[in-house]
Amino acid sequence: MPNKHFIMNKSIIAAAFAAIVCMSCSENRTNPLLEESKLPYGAVEFDKIQSTDYMPAFEEGLRQLKANIDAIAACADAPTFENTIEPLESCDRLFGNVGSIFYNLMETDADDIMHETEEKAIPMENEANSYVFMNEAIFKRIKELYDNIDNIGLNVEQKEVLKKYYRRFVTGGALLDEKDKTRFVEIKNRMGELRIKFANNNLDESNAYVLNVTDINRLKGLPQDQLEAAAARAKEKGLEGWAFNVQKPCWIPFLQFCQDRDLREQMYKAYYTRGNNNNEFDNKAIIKETLQLRLELANLLGYETFADYMLEDRMAKTPQAAYDLLMEIWKYAVPQAKRERDEMQKIIDAEGGKFKLAAWDWWYYAEKLRKQKYDLDESQLTPYFSLDNVRKGSFMVAETLFGIKFKKVDNLPVYNPSVETWECLDADGSHLAYFYTDCFVRATKRQGAWMTNFTGQYNYAGNSQRPTIVNVCNFSVPTDTLPCLLSIDDARTVFHEFGHALHGMLTQCHYPTVSGTATPNDYVEMCSQIMEHWAIDPTILKQYAFHYKTGEPIPDNLIEKMQNAGHFNTGFETVELVGAALLDMEYHMLKDYSSFDDQKFEDEISAKLGMIPEIEYRYRGTFFNHIFNNDYCAGYYSYLWAEVLDCDAFQCFKEEGLLNKETGMRYRRNILEKGSSDDLMKLYRQFRGHDPETAAMLRNRGLIK
Ligand SMILES: [Zn+2]
Repeated sequence: MPNKHFIMNKSIIAAAFAAIVCMSCSENRTNPLLEESKLPYGAVEFDKIQSTDYMPAFEEGLRQLKANIDAIAACADAPTFENTIEPLESCDRLFGNVGSIFYNLMETDADDIMHETEEKAIPMENEANSYVFMNEAIFKRIKELYDNIDNIGLNVEQKEVLKKYYRRFVTGGALLDEKDKTRFVEIKNRMGELRIKFANNNLDESNAYVLNVTDINRLKGLPQDQLEAAAARAKEKGLEGWAFNVQKPCWIPFLQFCQDRDLREQMYKAYYTRGNNNNEFDNKAIIKETLQLRLELANLLGYETFADYMLEDRMAKTPQAAYDLLMEIWKYAVPQAKRERDEMQKIIDAEGGKFKLAAWDWWYYAEKLRKQKYDLDESQLTPYFSLDNVRKGSFMVAETLFGIKFKKVDNLPVYNPSVETWECLDADGSHLAYFYTDCFVRATKRQGAWMTNFTGQYNYAGNSQRPTIVNVCNFSVPTDTLPCLLSIDDARTVFHEFGHALHGMLTQCHYPTVSGTATPNDYVEMCSQIMEHWAIDPTILKQYAFHYKTGEPIPDNLIEKMQNAGHFNTGFETVELVGAALLDMEYHMLKDYSSFDDQKFEDEISAKLGMIPEIEYRYRGTFFNHIFNNDYCAGYYSYLWAEVLDCDAFQCFKEEGLLNKETGMRYRRNILEKGSSDDLMKLYRQFRGHDPETAAMLRNRGLIK
């Protein structure tokens, strides 16, 4: 995932500002964060920054931001894009720039001073956001511009930027009268409380659950490592025997391997009834109140439903568009899941089990089916996926398609010795971006993989800046004898994050608000996920997946096995995922919750959709953290929407040539360079020639031939 952070997205280096000497330093040293970088293209001077530099820089940044905002608000001239929006775009240059560096490093190399700084910096950021978006004088200027949006000579990108500012203010309550404003704040506060309660209930109930087994005979089938972990867990809790919980690393292997059906049923039910046991951790009342408040909020802001409010600025635009797409996938997913169920029933019957497959049997028999039909020995694959080769493969694809070049750079300062740096050059040799890779696991680094900006891109009011992008991963550290070898999932991750990086590096927007990856959730993952298709395409694999010792390309039979394994259990996975997305959308499309009863509601939706009883929504409402404790409410569909886009876009390359430069350049010009500076569907159509279609995604998931 790219980092989605308002201030960070707008981060810009302090190019236009004169250097400011750090007043708090008694020594003869200036704070490098307060000075313009002396490196080419404003690259960050990591070799000079000390942890103590951040707080004074945040303070100075906030001071400048406030002064800038005051100046815009006090402007006596009639509002124009140039005297209102452009200065807003740069009001947080210093503050945003410091934040970009700081929050990136918080994830990878934080020390005690930085942790202390973060505690103070987060409220400062809230303060900064309020200072901008609660400012009535500024809203008045924006509204005047917005009301005349078509008559003030704005280009397409400027209109998009203006619309985003206007929405941000309006959804913050700027248009409400005093009475409604008070209620608006009350709703927001109460929603915040409910969110925390929901999350705590989830956590507490999950933590409270333990399945304690004292008879080893009942644990037949479980792998040794799972048994050992369970014994250690029991000991820790002062219990005899073995203890199991509902955390995924324990719960999934248990359902996959434990032969005892009754125990599987217990574990299954414990997981799916979280927050729904009518005890002190029950979330049903919280769900109802949350939904009621969300609707009230949406109504206050002039929307019919909460889903309408949430989707307005997404690519999908309307709940119906998202819903229709989900139903299109659903139509094919359910029959596929039924075929999988029937195949598993055959195994049960052949084994002489006289029962019908139940929901808690699915993982167990799916695992048997996988061994029979899809078995893939990962250790045979990894020698073909050294990090070096995978990276070369990703560069090769991008260089061929987009007419760019990656050049290793050895003289840029880095924040950790294991970070590598590259320069991304355009066909004519001009500089496009710096690209940093931070690949290896270390104690201070958060888990996972991500892309972020150290410096952003902009080009307006006579100032311009090219971006600096970083990809962070957590791969094993190479040794003297063994290079870093990746699993196929890791190889896909390299391509995925590199896709986000390209989106950040090739952007040619003017304004930070719409530049690079500053795009909605249902769009941004297209640019990353599409790269994964190249990672596993047979003809591309032959061009980069070489054995690290022999240099031999990956053999055909391994490629075939890989592809085959990709179609395992996809009916199940699609049904549980699309089911959850539909449930989320249904929750937020209602116009009245007065007689809402969560269990009744979920059952009704299941009946309406034709959910098969052997599969449960990936998340039931009472533990659906994405939507009741996160910003994915009415947004869980985004994953599937973006997947339709990436499959359909890749289909275009399949039709015109996987490494066809013309297609690549069309993708670059319409997608990678544009950020969200234009209507996203229009941009997509310009690239693809038509609206996105679901066929490629359905085929990719093995749901149609
Ligand atoms: Zn991503």
